[in-house]
Amino acid sequence: VSNWAAPRARLLAWYDAHARDLPWRRTRDPYAIWVSEIMLQQTRVETVIPYYERFLARFPSAHALADAPLDDVLAHWSGLGYYRRARLLHEGARAVASEHAGQVPREAHLRRALPGVGRYTAGAIGSIAFDLPEPIVDGNVARVLARVLALEAPLGTRDAERALWQAAAEWAEGERPGALNQALMELGARVCLPQRPRCAECPLAEHCQARADGRAESLPVVPPKKPPKPVNLVALAAFDDAGRVWLQRGEENLFGGLWSLPSVEGSTRASVVELAPTTALEGVLSRRAVGELKHVLTHRVLSVRVYVQRAASGVRSAALKPVALSEIGRLGTATLTRKLLALAGGGS
Ligand code: SF4
Repeated sequence: VSNWAAPRARLLAWYDAHARDLPWRRTRDPYAIWVSEIMLQQTRVETVIPYYERFLARFPSAHALADAPLDDVLAHWSGLGYYRRARLLHEGARAVASEHAGQVPREAHLRRALPGVGRYTAGAIGSIAFDLPEPIVDGNVARVLARVLALEAPLGTRDAERALWQAAAEWAEGERPGALNQALMELGARVCLPQRPRCAECPLAEHCQARADGRAESLPVVPPKKPPKPVNLVALAAFDDAGRVWLQRGEENLFGGLWSLPSVEGSTRASVVELAPTTALEGVLSRRAVGELKHVLTHRVLSVRVYVQRAASGVRSAALKPVALSEIGRLGTATLTRKLLALAGGGS
């Protein structure tokens, strides 16, 4: 086991002097830290802050979250993306409410058994809320540790994962593991940047192998990214006589499983006809295309052609529900859905 005592102490001193004042750093409530950690996965700090505050105001405890309907939870997540996170958080809160009397368990194995709580989230809650010496490795921590160790294995490989979690576990041993873990993340976010790391102002500079080797910029080894896949879709905005639009639960990958316009893969007028069985709306061919938009997701670039149908009748599908445009804000909807509705001439 390497001796990290000296760099650890320097990093903690740096953190105490430089840590940003973030809302989730003012609490030791395991539930609140859990919420913040789930939101911070794949989302920037600045974006998360207002969502976190609204979410905690509406769902102040695991019990409150467990008791809330899923649509309400998703509505508070609307715009953050990766809605699976919200659904799992909701499930996790229900497990905490029913199995642990509403208290997030202190024991690591019980935390790990909660829906949606993996090694990272369990370690974040354990170290930050309970001050237990549990490691965490996110993108920022991985970059810092890979550089400190001058790790050769490309990120994401099994060798790299093993080495990084092992190192993080060693760093977590000692006083204030929660602060230490946050300090590693903070250093990665603000000093040990992906490009042009600021080694001159880094508290770990003397202990960093990549810097000593003059390789800070070229490490860690990052495997090449796959280019996003182009996907064509047609979407249907069908309004009923009362001006409400028919929505259905959208696909997880495209709409985060949130309420959305019925859509199908394809790019031609014929593809709209394919929507008929899904939507069970009559008068398919009378629909007209109102435009097309591009939308970029992490792994896909979507081109969506939007068709509008007024006074749609003959709805026989239980999967569809008519929603007044003024109510849409209260349902969880993906950014893509809001863009499609704007193009269709409803919503914003
Ligand atoms: S010395 Fe440079 S490369 Fe090493 S941890 Fe600090 S900022 Fe990152």
